[in-house]
Amino acid sequence: MADGSAGPRPGPVGPVDCFDRSLLVHCGPAQIAEAVAVADQPGSGLVVTASADRRQNCLDQARRLVRSGRFGHPLLLDAGRYAGAGRCDARTPFSDWWIDGQRELGLPVLTDSGYVAAGDAAGLWHLLQATARLGDAIALLPLHISWLTGTGARRTLTRYVALAGVPVALVLEHPADPFAEPGAVEGLLEVLDCGVPVLLLRCDVSALGALCCGATAAAVGTVPALRHLYPVPPVPGPAPRVGRPSAIVGRCLAYRRTDVIARTRALFPEAGLWTCDCETCDGRDLSWLDRQPQHRRSLLAFRHSLRVLYALRDDIFRSSLPNSRLSWHARCRDAIWRHADVRWPVPGMLRRWETALPALPVTRLARLDRSRPVGVPPANGPQPVRVV
Ligand SMILES: [Zn+2]
Repeated sequence: MADGSAGPRPGPVGPVDCFDRSLLVHCGPAQIAEAVAVADQPGSGLVVTASADRRQNCLDQARRLVRSGRFGHPLLLDAGRYAGAGRCDARTPFSDWWIDGQRELGLPVLTDSGYVAAGDAAGLWHLLQATARLGDAIALLPLHISWLTGTGARRTLTRYVALAGVPVALVLEHPADPFAEPGAVEGLLEVLDCGVPVLLLRCDVSALGALCCGATAAAVGTVPALRHLYPVPPVPGPAPRVGRPSAIVGRCLAYRRTDVIARTRALFPEAGLWTCDCETCDGRDLSWLDRQPQHRRSLLAFRHSLRVLYALRDDIFRSSLPNSRLSWHARCRDAIWRHADVRWPVPGMLRRWETALPALPVTRLARLDRSRPVGVPPANGPQPVRVV
């Protein structure tokens, strides 16, 4: 066990110093080349989740990427031991070879944590303490959603995280969208206010919300399985059928299946939602994605979605953190109306973000203004909130 028996081993830089409100692409080992192509821009990075029982392969691929010099942005490796039917629990010791493998590559060290089940406060504390003893690591916290939504559990989580004083990377378990759960956004905001750097992994559009509210980095999955952590079914069933991929409709801040986009575009051609100027779409309307051959559709949907998210991030972060937060709130409100325009059900997460943010007092907003916008000089004064 890499339990720090030799004492803390602080590295030359902190484990999160390479991040600056970074929007990361979260992929599997087979998608590294494609993800690198999309994520090769300022304020970006990569998270690679190892396939079950193939963690050595993940390290080997990361080694090749680092040595090739093709990717000059932060790279995180996620062992994924918290997922699947045979997953480890929070008290499972970290693996020396996994921790040391990341150190040898000069990567930020992410613990190969097990799953933190509902109510497992002892496991949570054990995991945070083991991370603190490493001295140079980020505690990966794969959490049952009740840790954010339950009042008592949230209080325990935030107290333990603040006491441990180590950077944390959250992975949230949910069958669909964790931030659609009542209290999840509020819980995230409280963790972000703990005084330690917080990363959010395996996420979707809510990654932007987290960055607007002070997250050090947030990662968007290339496929649905990497946009949150699926619960383990009580009885193993057949693998889910692979249907049409989903793509982001930018102004709606939501993923929709490409066939749904094409059908809705035909019904509401004047909705002002369909033309996309991203590098992948190049000014075409989004229904073009559904007309692509099946083997190309998923790849193009992922490229389009990430590029739209990077463009949104760049636009929102032109201003200071409190203003980017207000901009995110305004965009969520606008997206709710956009859904009504095309008679789509409003994703729960939009309403949760929209109702959670205005409740924050101005003093807390000011306290959060600790970082500068990405890629632009510090603002001299308040910036207007602009919804594009
Ligand atoms: Zn596009």
